[in-house]
Amino acid sequence: MDSFSKKIRELLGAKGWIDAENSKPWQRDWLDQYGEVPLGVARPESTSEVSDVLHLCNDEGIPVVPQGGNTGLVGAGVLGKPGGVILSLSRMNTISSTDLLDGSILVEAGVILEQLHQHLEGTGLMFPMHLGSEGSAQFGGLIATNAGGSHAFRYGMMQDLILGLEVVLADGSIWNGLRAVQKDNSSYQLRRLFCGSEGTLGIVTKAILKLSPEPKQQHTALLAVKNSSGLIKLATKLRSDGGDFLTAMEFFSDVGLDIALKNIPELVFPLQTRTPFYLLIEAGSGSIKVPLDSILAEVIEWGMNENIIADGAIAMSDSQRLVFWRLREEQPEGQRRLGMQLKHDISVPPGHLDEFLDRANDECNQILKGVIINTFGHLGDGNVHYNLSPPKGEQDFLNLDSKFALKLAQLANVMGGSFAAEHGIGRTKIAVANALREPAEKDLMLRIKNSLDKNGQLNPGVLVHF
Ligand code: FAD
Repeated sequence: MDSFSKKIRELLGAKGWIDAENSKPWQRDWLDQYGEVPLGVARPESTSEVSDVLHLCNDEGIPVVPQGGNTGLVGAGVLGKPGGVILSLSRMNTISSTDLLDGSILVEAGVILEQLHQHLEGTGLMFPMHLGSEGSAQFGGLIATNAGGSHAFRYGMMQDLILGLEVVLADGSIWNGLRAVQKDNSSYQLRRLFCGSEGTLGIVTKAILKLSPEPKQQHTALLAVKNSSGLIKLATKLRSDGGDFLTAMEFFSDVGLDIALKNIPELVFPLQTRTPFYLLIEAGSGSIKVPLDSILAEVIEWGMNENIIADGAIAMSDSQRLVFWRLREEQPEGQRRLGMQLKHDISVPPGHLDEFLDRANDECNQILKGVIINTFGHLGDGNVHYNLSPPKGEQDFLNLDSKFALKLAQLANVMGGSFAAEHGIGRTKIAVANALREPAEKDLMLRIKNSLDKNGQLNPGVLVHF
């Protein structure tokens, strides 16, 4: 055993260190595009052990890449070069007791999102974040990517759902910002600095989360929509008639439905009619007196009369609701199983999403005629996952990556949106980020990075690599 492994094993014990030859499960990212062999995987079980690991790695000049559930989609939770350490937080998975009066809860970074949902069942409170990866994604990763998901337009992204944070810095020092209040102007908004920092500024070890009351009634509908402008008209109508009760407006296309149905055999499509787009709507309320079912039914009737909706159904049971949701949530997995793909995660002002889709489709077809375009995402906040697959027989597809990425990013910029809506920059989007970031923003980011991690040891090559 080399001297580094010996030292780290002394700090963490046998359970806390997995050597290089047994590190395979931690090596590659979810899309299997990035990852190198680490010196080993450190698995601390407390904040002080995380601090010890960072101290040691700082002294020895060894890069550290934090990893949560490894569901990130931009290659940021694995090594870019061999020789660093993966820091897995999965043993730090304690959930404190819920403070029902305050509506907050303390979690360690390794707690899985679904685990928290289950923990809160029956308490009357919920944590309002939902995404397709919730069975694996951990709070450290959710915070470090500033995750969004399907309910973000109503409840906010991760940065809006955190009250307090504990973070271990590159030199091993610990920042305890575990406050449980919304109103706190006692310092810079440090907790926000770590949201979306992709493991480049510090290691999140604990968080205090803000909870919301669980809805007493919830209604879910799946609609077959005739075109993209119909999606926008429906969203506007739903906003005006459903108001604050809307909790999700998720869309996917027939291209994506086809891919998902062919690649994930257990999926079921419950409608009679196929159309270019589908919209999944959810509305909920803490009061049973709000007539949500009739509000939804009236919007659907309106959409049919306006020739926007071809078909639709309202879920009559929890299991039917899950059938609807799976069609949307399995979109990434369906496309992964299809094979080669280029993923883009764009946001534009929500009322202009149809314009973005039209202009982007033209641009992409100019780069490669017949490219397969699969779009799905979060209509409520204008966030579209714009994924491309090669036409049959196309060999050069992956070489066109930077062309597609730059064109789509420029279009998002021109339309007042973002080329990295919720998945982040990681390794995948770093070239586009470098090409498009304003010099002042680059400089600011570099100054923050250098002051918190002056040796560049935390997740090198990710997010800030100029
Ligand atoms: P990882 O992938 O392990 O890591 C992600 C980043 O966080 C890396 O930079 C890593 O270094 C860093 N990190 C991990 N833990 C820590 C820590 N303790 N301290 C500091 N840095 C850390 N994302 C969305 O926003 N919305 C969606 O709707 C959505 N849907 C998805 C659906 C599917 C099927 C999949 C596979 C992914 C989806 N994602 C989505 C992306 C992904 O799930 C999120 O980015 C998630 O937040 C990553 O969490 P993780 O624990 O897997 O993090």
